[in-house]
Amino acid sequence: MFDNLTELLQNSFKVLQGKNKLSESNVKEAIRKVRRALLEADVALEVIKVFLDKVQIKALGLKVGQGLTPSQTFIKLVETELTKIIGGKVESLDLKTQPPAIIMVAGLQGAGKTTSVAKIAFYLKQRENKKVLVVSADVYRPAAIEQLEVLSKQIEVDFFPSTINDKPSDIVANAKRYAQKQFFDVLLVDTAGRLHIDEQMMNEIKILQKKVDPIETLFVIDSMTGQDAVHTAKVFSNALPLTGVILTKTDGDARGGAALSVRHIIGKPIKFLGVGEKIDALELFHPERVVSRLLGMGDVLSLVEEISRKVNHKKVQKSFQKMTKGQFDLSDMRYQLLQTEKMGGIEAMMNKLPGLGKIPQNVKNQIVNGAEIKKMVAIINSMTPKERSYISLIKGSRKARIANGSGTNIQAVNKLIKQFEKMQKQMKKVSGGKMQKMMAKMVD
Ligand code: GDP
Repeated sequence: MFDNLTELLQNSFKVLQGKNKLSESNVKEAIRKVRRALLEADVALEVIKVFLDKVQIKALGLKVGQGLTPSQTFIKLVETELTKIIGGKVESLDLKTQPPAIIMVAGLQGAGKTTSVAKIAFYLKQRENKKVLVVSADVYRPAAIEQLEVLSKQIEVDFFPSTINDKPSDIVANAKRYAQKQFFDVLLVDTAGRLHIDEQMMNEIKILQKKVDPIETLFVIDSMTGQDAVHTAKVFSNALPLTGVILTKTDGDARGGAALSVRHIIGKPIKFLGVGEKIDALELFHPERVVSRLLGMGDVLSLVEEISRKVNHKKVQKSFQKMTKGQFDLSDMRYQLLQTEKMGGIEAMMNKLPGLGKIPQNVKNQIVNGAEIKKMVAIINSMTPKERSYISLIKGSRKARIANGSGTNIQAVNKLIKQFEKMQKQMKKVSGGKMQKMMAKMVD
């Protein structure tokens, strides 16, 4: 996320390295570099000014913190002020209302509205155990209703049918009545987007919003569109009483401008981040964690939370126990590969670890990417259970059969076998007791 900005910010701090105090001249130089980094990231000028004015005033009177270098003291200040400017604290959804709590989602076409509706529905169902109904009031884009229906089936969330011949306000009124009767906790409403702002659209959405009277009106912005997105958000926010923002596509090569500007410009919190195309690729927006990632300090907390949510601890423990006893086989390797894939691949995990996010893309690709994991799992799937337990059985004709079955080739099978043998060797080197203790801590 925002890798380029991270690199530029880290470079800005270098001017303070090795200095024994924060002086007017070295602080000004660092601030000049931070300004350039933020400009390059397409952060709104007004935001840059407010933020850097504060940093400058505070930095000049700042005593170097105990145990910190001047450069670390400055970074800490940047961290605090950046966190403030993007929101300060976590702002989750407000669902405290007479059920159903209605959440309406608005935004331009392609920003990620429909996907975000499905993601939030899944999030509320999975994490907050809510009974959720979704409905589409997008009567302009013919495929939009069907798209939401398909997604809702995929996540097993109820879908209230509508057609392009219905009036948006009738659709939502009917859905609300149904949700009340069937005791749904939440009703999520997708609305029509346009390619750009036009008056008719603004009027329609204003009327709809008034009629629906949702507790949450969320504006979806595509972080790839930088300041344009912030400008659109401002226009919507002037017309509608927005309660928050969903920032999508932060997994791409967005520069970070929208993420850093929107809160200050429209005065509404970012509530969620879209971090991928998959339905579970939605994160609650934690300002301090995002800033930590942005400054290259990683986001270990999110990673730990994600692991404990997605990983079956008992199974992992069993697999590691086998490892420590030297009984690790290819079925265990497959299980671990699948766990890694579930976490979004090694790359997604590395991005949350301090210092590792900076590794160049080509190196990351070489480590293990999603496609590589899928290939490795396909190879293991094409083996018989016996072969998975006794790798030495895999020779000549068996190798050819496995390569054929998995749609790969002999070289790929050989590579996997080599990787497995390497892992096995490595595990034997680690003394059992030490490994078990480490695992016990991790899955505690
Ligand atoms: P809508 O027109 O606003 O309803 O937009 P859609 O929900 O149809 O999304 C447009 C495209 O953006 C689709 O291809 C989505 O898969 C993609 N998309 C939405 N959110 C994200 C995200 O957080 N990350 C990525 N990589 N793609 C996303």
